[in-house]
Amino acid sequence: MAFENPYHPFNLGELPPGCQYCVRGEKLVLFVTGVCPRTCYFCPVSDQKFQQDVIYANERKVESADDILKEAHLMDAKGAGITGGDPLSKLDRTIEYIKLLKEKFGKGFHIHLYTSLNLATEENLGKLWAAGLDELRFHLELESKQFWERLALARKFSWKIGVEIPLIPTKEKETFAVLEFVKDKVDFLNLNELEVADNSQSKLEEMMFHTKDELSYAIKGSLELGLKVLEFAQKENYVLPIHVCTAKLKDAVQLANRLKREARGAKKKFDLVSEEGMLTRGALYLPELVPGFGYRKKLENVNKTEFVQKLEPLLIRLKKELRVDEDDVFLDVSKPRILLSKTLLKQNRKLFRKLGLVPAVVSEYPTADQLEVEVELF
Ligand code: SF4
Repeated sequence: MAFENPYHPFNLGELPPGCQYCVRGEKLVLFVTGVCPRTCYFCPVSDQKFQQDVIYANERKVESADDILKEAHLMDAKGAGITGGDPLSKLDRTIEYIKLLKEKFGKGFHIHLYTSLNLATEENLGKLWAAGLDELRFHLELESKQFWERLALARKFSWKIGVEIPLIPTKEKETFAVLEFVKDKVDFLNLNELEVADNSQSKLEEMMFHTKDELSYAIKGSLELGLKVLEFAQKENYVLPIHVCTAKLKDAVQLANRLKREARGAKKKFDLVSEEGMLTRGALYLPELVPGFGYRKKLENVNKTEFVQKLEPLLIRLKKELRVDEDDVFLDVSKPRILLSKTLLKQNRKLFRKLGLVPAVVSEYPTADQLEVEVELF
């Protein structure tokens, strides 16, 4: 029997090095571009990113390479997973970031990269190797074997290579064909439990794939196919390490661990941190920018500098009136507002209202987008 390890995936053989960092939440997710030569019907990339040339480090929009370093420091990253789109669509940028990360965090900073085989050439792969990439994961197309032979190109370099594909319940024959093809060509095979995505590129629901239950995004029959592959490989004594990555692993373990690491770096002196890594803090909003319906859209479109300028004199006045230390209050320029402790907020709410500010206690993600989970107005 394949065995379920403490991180909830099932595997035969060792977890690939890149996955070992990932399950501990130690990997920065570097989305280098949404541009991709393929248009898979199960693509999980969001509408804001798919085929758009945008860059994100975790949830942080990247305007310059410094944003990547900032995010990596914040979560105390031990490595990075480079993804997209297809990172090879923007090869020079990808190489620049690999070099930068290796230079700043050292050779041991483990970097793996996901790519389709469509853009893999010996020249491209050679450049990635020279930049210091540690591990490559190829996303083989199940419906066409056109590029499969290109796997051999990656074997010319001494890095770890693997194949990673989604477990599509209606593609059993094709999935076994991948197993047979790669079993003596790569260092590992990763099989991902298929999930519906909230985007327009994913056509799984129209194609009548159903989720396991109403609360789950995982597709019925997907995990079962993975277990079937594992059982077969074990019976045949394949030496290839195979790893079935479940939806539960991604959400309950990998993301949760990353959030906890990010919370340690993002928390202010006055924040309360929950076991899941959520931050609870007091916040003072300008009446025009109080969280509510359409808040995030509004944040994208407003001139933040204008709001920050309105808050600056108020912050100076507050510091004087409250007689607090410099780091007891904080001007958050990304979501123009003043942050402080929940206690200070509750004790002084009348003063804050008198100054025209709206006091609230918020619980939110420690990520760069600081997504609100709960907002309680006072
Ligand atoms: S290769 Fe990946 S990013 Fe590109 S369309 Fe397919 S699933 Fe989406």
